[in-house]
Amino acid sequence: MTATLPIDIHTHHTPTPPATAIVCHTPADVPPYCPARQATPPTWLSVGIHPWDVGPAQKAGQLPRLLALLAGALARPDVVAIGEAGLDKLATAPMELQTDVFLQQARMAEETGKPLVIHLVKAQAELLAAHRMLRPTVPWILHGFRGKAQLATDYLRHGFWLSFGEHWQAEALRTVPSDRLLLETDDCPTPLPVLLQRVAQARETTPERLLPTLRDNVRRVFFPSFCCYY
Ligand SMILES: [Zn+2]
Repeated sequence: MTATLPIDIHTHHTPTPPATAIVCHTPADVPPYCPARQATPPTWLSVGIHPWDVGPAQKAGQLPRLLALLAGALARPDVVAIGEAGLDKLATAPMELQTDVFLQQARMAEETGKPLVIHLVKAQAELLAAHRMLRPTVPWILHGFRGKAQLATDYLRHGFWLSFGEHWQAEALRTVPSDRLLLETDDCPTPLPVLLQRVAQARETTPERLLPTLRDNVRRVFFPSFCCYY
């Protein structure tokens, strides 16, 4: 199987060509799986229950259905990650419920061997407690990382991966070793090549030099069984 690895690890846009990004969906809106369409190039997906959706889903009695849909989606070869899952103190659902749903998704990540893309707002202690409890073997990726350098160092020490989007603190970005760095466009309008240029500049390198490392990071995190993907 030959394909270009996606560099953009988390987007809500439709990428062109399709294989250049991992597109985020909820279990309720994931497009149907069609093996024939997966020829080349595939559209890579991540599927998860976002913390913002936990409260409304609970109210509507839909959480068990969403978790079942998620379990089904994870069996698909084009679904290469779980997410966004996470913990958000500004979301409507109580932290206890959010934690429960997050842990269920983290356990699914372990069972399927697929990495976890994490949305985190003001819940660092809760996330680290979950990490200590589960001791995950699959990568946990903090998406849209905007924290300071010290926080980046702490997360890296705990084994997390950090993904940077449109906004970041330059010192934090420079703190992350190249072999632990991921990029994403999320829902921002800035195209990936522009993002890559800015990130490379902030790290005093060039997109050409950064790109092979980013590809290899994506391979290690999202496509660990493919050794010769590009
Ligand atoms: Zn997102």
